[in-house]
Amino acid sequence: MILIVSVVMLLLEAGRSSSSSASGLENQIFQYIDLHQNEFIKILKEWVAVESDSVQPRLTQEVTRMMEIAAARLQALGATVELAQLGTSQLPDGQSLLLPPLILAELGKDPQKPTVCFYGHLDVQPAKKEDGWETDPYTLTESDGNLYGRGASDNKGPVLAWINAVETFKALKLDMPVNFKFIIEGLEEVGSPGLEKLIKDKNQLFFSDVDYIVISDNLWLSNRKPALTYGTRGSICFFVEVQGGERDLHSGTFGGIIHEPITDLIALLDSLVDISGRILIPGIYDDVSILTEEEKKLYESVEFDVEGHKNISGVKKFLYDNKEEILMNMWRYPSLSIHGIEGAFHEPGIKTVIPIRVIGKFSIRLVPHMNISIVEHQVKQYLEDIFSKRSSPNKLMVSVPLSAVPWLADINNTLYTAAKGAIKTVFGQDPDMIRDGSTIPIARMFQNITKKSVMMFPIGDADAGEHSQNEKISRSNYFQGTKLFATFFLEIAKLHEQLQEASTMKTTN
Ligand SMILES: [Zn+2]
Repeated sequence: MILIVSVVMLLLEAGRSSSSSASGLENQIFQYIDLHQNEFIKILKEWVAVESDSVQPRLTQEVTRMMEIAAARLQALGATVELAQLGTSQLPDGQSLLLPPLILAELGKDPQKPTVCFYGHLDVQPAKKEDGWETDPYTLTESDGNLYGRGASDNKGPVLAWINAVETFKALKLDMPVNFKFIIEGLEEVGSPGLEKLIKDKNQLFFSDVDYIVISDNLWLSNRKPALTYGTRGSICFFVEVQGGERDLHSGTFGGIIHEPITDLIALLDSLVDISGRILIPGIYDDVSILTEEEKKLYESVEFDVEGHKNISGVKKFLYDNKEEILMNMWRYPSLSIHGIEGAFHEPGIKTVIPIRVIGKFSIRLVPHMNISIVEHQVKQYLEDIFSKRSSPNKLMVSVPLSAVPWLADINNTLYTAAKGAIKTVFGQDPDMIRDGSTIPIARMFQNITKKSVMMFPIGDADAGEHSQNEKISRSNYFQGTKLFATFFLEIAKLHEQLQEASTMKTTN
């Protein structure tokens, strides 16, 4: 008997310490979420069943239907919902297509509370069982603790986790800690046409009273440790065109007597990066932000599987050996990649041709505080110098078809502090503070136009298989994510109140 009692005591103790920092209110919320797991899965199943693939125009109707289902869900929570029309797009066959609407919703308008705006998307990448899925992509299927289905993690699961968190407060008749706004689109997978214009148009009205913007559309870096994303790299793409004459030539007739454009181009491309990966363009590193001790520490604590990443890449050796250097070169330093040569013969076999006009294509991933126009100038100047030293009679033209600025958030602001606190409560550990080496314009777009604090707050683990076969969200991530968002609402409300108090004290003093 004594033994049983002490075992029970031990279990109780263990239960208490595992959620040691969760308050009574939080425990009440967690309990509700745990008890309603089946209902939350049922809704995700219904949402995944809608083939809201925005890539194939024939499925636009389904995307629209998905937006209507989500709008109804938000309305049922008491939100005011507007389905904003984005106009039409022109199909290749000349027909025009009505684009799916975008959801703008709001719930709560208490001036004492902060207003948090959530961004997500409900369109998905195409998926077919024949692509190599083990289950039907549009039938949410649970196996080994994972929920498989297209959109489960990109991005229907996270959108629902946020909505479920709001619903939990409502169901428990709790006071909403914050005012909510939602901006949910159905065209993210095709580059969000119309979104930037809409944010600009709505900046004075919809966004005027928003304090914080949260995006939950990316992943953790590991499978176990939660993460917060505070930066993405930008990019600038270059076309380097070298033209000799009017038509391609035969190497038997002209080889040996002309300056071949492709030889010029290869010399130019070869002058861009050295064997250690360092970009050779003078001045390119001048504006890269200096590494502080505080930032350096962030890389040390990040959980990152270097060997695993190497295995994914399929290469034998990286340019760097240690984790910190690899992370820094993926996230906080620029990189230059050569992508291809247009006009060069690339088919199997041999063709003894001298291509007369070739276009080399490369891009540089930009980091704070590199400036697009300065980089453009540096690159053009450098390539022209290299080219002029060759005294080639060919014509060189360098152009920039595409560019996007990097994004970096202040990790010491309220938004990140609140999210860190929520992660500590729900997962019992500090998050990895991560960046993304690729270019995700959305965060920067929100920050630039609205001037609000923006955070990327992922809830999916690294092997969620976004855009690929067997996409999934783990059951645990779906529910822990729901708890995390609910806890985050409480944290941000608390911190916001403290901020308000501090600023009133300042003004009264
Ligand atoms: Zn996405």
